[in-house]
Amino acid sequence: MFDIFLEVIGAILATVIFYTIYCGTRHPLIQNQPGIKQITIGFGLLLLSSFIDITDNFPTLNFLVIIGDTELEAFIEKAVGTTLGLLFLSSGFRLWLPSIHELVNTRQSLNILTIELDERVQRRSIELERSNNNLKIEILERKKIEKQLKHQALHDALTMLPNRSALIDFLELEISSPDNHDSISALFFLDLDNFKQINDLLGHQLGDSVLEITAKRLNGLSLTKNRFIGRLGGDEFVLVMTDIHPDPHFAKELVTKMAQQVISALDRPIYLYEHKLKASCSIGIKLFSSKSQEIVSDLLRQADIALYDAKGKTKIKGGFSFFHEDMQSIMIERVNLAREIHDALERKQFYLHYQPQVSSDGQVFGLEALLRWDHPTRDIIGPDEFIPIAEEAGLIDKLGRYVLHNALSECSAFFDNQVLATKLKIAVNISPSHFLQIDFVNQVKEIMDSFELKNCHLVLEITESVLIQNIDEISEKMEQLHKLGVGISLDDFGTGYSSLSYVQRLPFDTIKIDRSFIRDINTNSNDAAIVDAILAVTASLGVSVIAEGVETREQQDFLEQRGCENYQGYLFGRPTFLIDCSQILNLNITDSA
Ligand SMILES: [Mg+2]
Repeated sequence: MFDIFLEVIGAILATVIFYTIYCGTRHPLIQNQPGIKQITIGFGLLLLSSFIDITDNFPTLNFLVIIGDTELEAFIEKAVGTTLGLLFLSSGFRLWLPSIHELVNTRQSLNILTIELDERVQRRSIELERSNNNLKIEILERKKIEKQLKHQALHDALTMLPNRSALIDFLELEISSPDNHDSISALFFLDLDNFKQINDLLGHQLGDSVLEITAKRLNGLSLTKNRFIGRLGGDEFVLVMTDIHPDPHFAKELVTKMAQQVISALDRPIYLYEHKLKASCSIGIKLFSSKSQEIVSDLLRQADIALYDAKGKTKIKGGFSFFHEDMQSIMIERVNLAREIHDALERKQFYLHYQPQVSSDGQVFGLEALLRWDHPTRDIIGPDEFIPIAEEAGLIDKLGRYVLHNALSECSAFFDNQVLATKLKIAVNISPSHFLQIDFVNQVKEIMDSFELKNCHLVLEITESVLIQNIDEISEKMEQLHKLGVGISLDDFGTGYSSLSYVQRLPFDTIKIDRSFIRDINTNSNDAAIVDAILAVTASLGVSVIAEGVETREQQDFLEQRGCENYQGYLFGRPTFLIDCSQILNLNITDSA
């Protein structure tokens, strides 16, 4: 009885299991999978074969289930049911497994995609954060660049001082300011006296250093009034001092003291490399007040005119001038003169006078060619008036070549004379900028060759300004000129940069003592001492000396007693045309013959 109970329980359990499996196959996710029907049928056949097994083992149930009568039949039925069930199951699973694989693969791919997506999101977040940071940096950089551009637009890149635009802004604001109506202000227009020379001769790098030092010195000034310091370009600086004083006379006194302070600050020597430079300044000053409602461009122009006056009127470096109305016409004259010099060269209005150079025995051994200008509407103009303007206008080199060419052309008759050629030298003045041109020696050679002179005792007179350049380069150039048979004189010695040490280091043939030491040599012990020193050094070096500007017999005697044997000056002959000099020379030749 218990056996029957167990079989029933077993059959119920088997049925339940089958039903559960069947229901599982009906689940929406499973029922559409391929092979599910075969699996269901397979399980059904296995269940059925298990029932056959139960009835085999428990014959009491045989009458309840129609089944084979013998054990063999039952076995065959069971075996057939089981085999068919397993076949269905295996075919069902064979059909379903790919779907499961696909599902698993899909899930794995999904997982991988999810991970990749997470990584992408993470990377993108980092990128976005980085882009955001870069954007912030870029915005800061842009703001910085904008600030720099604004600064550059209003400041000079070399000295960092405010520039012309900043000056105009400052002046316009100042003029329109209602607070300063009753007070005088001053505009200083500064220009370095020797800057062009320094820049041309020593190079732009050294010139820039001079400008930087000048800017620092101007910034270091302890001017008490409101001020603006700027650089307009080149060697032009500007100072504006506002609200100085309501009383014009008192204000002018204060401005004068300030100008002296500025000049004194810039007058100190500048030591750069082996050079000791002087970058003194000249100043043009324009006083103004807001009340006068002046235009900024007029203020600048008038201060500039006053500067030209400061530089030109006395030729004293380091001066200053206040603008006044008369200066306008002077300025116009200078501009006109510069244009006329250019025309005069084209129209050959320049000509040469010659001044004899004489030895103590009265023999003329040289002629210095001196340029004159036969101006069409004025009297003859001397070089003191037009040379500075020619230098400013950049015409001095052209003028130099003109003189050299004409002097050789005019004197070629002398050089062809065998007797005269050995006795006579022709001296030509050469400007520093012309002498320092790279091809200067070639220029001289070409001009000399163009005349095919058999004997040519040419002497070039250069001033001390040349000596601020590299001594070795000057020395080499002088040697090249010596090879051409050209002598070199150091002109106006004692007035410029040089010291006697330069005379020792450079191969000068002649030193010309400046007339300023000769004028009072009989009465001024300082001048006499300087001349003594020059004569002592040149005698030891074997360099000849010419005293310039000798006008009296006393001066000549004084110089002769001290060993100076060569002279030039009105005592021996004023500058004159070559034809007049020829007569003197012929006499001398006849006398000496
Ligand atoms: Mg001279």
